[in-house]
Amino acid sequence: MPGLEELYREIILDHYRSPRNRGELDSPPATKVDGQNPLCGDEITVYLQLEGSGDNAFVADVKIAGQGCSISQSSASMMTGVIMGKKVGEIRAVSRRFKSMMGLEDIETEAGDGEVDLGDLEALQGVMKFPVRIKCAVLGWNTLTSALDEALNPPE
Ligand code: ZN
Repeated sequence: MPGLEELYREIILDHYRSPRNRGELDSPPATKVDGQNPLCGDEITVYLQLEGSGDNAFVADVKIAGQGCSISQSSASMMTGVIMGKKVGEIRAVSRRFKSMMGLEDIETEAGDGEVDLGDLEALQGVMKFPVRIKCAVLGWNTLTSALDEALNPPE
């Protein structure tokens, strides 16, 4: 189906050229975490503002800074659109679903993950055919996971 691949390429390019939620947040109160993928030279900084606590904590705001290839930057842009306003548990489910779509095998999926809506992230499914690019695609998610852990358990 050539039409679908074309559509996916358009979505990726659109996020690369016009990244969503680009910028910075004051840190603190926001949590700031840097991530790197040295294989490709990708850099992503996640600024995460959670509100609420425990199971009710949700993303009040998120911003992305950094530079790198179209896969890393578009993936991070798509990620912000999917997680904005979502609770931490929902975000972890999207992260698991996305990583298993990328073919990463050490992901422990949970019941209900199959129904998780990936939104524009679906456009990245072709990346799993290129193993060296998978690290580009998941960089934003790995950085976000660190930011979530730090925001939920701030260092003393
Ligand atoms: Zn890359």
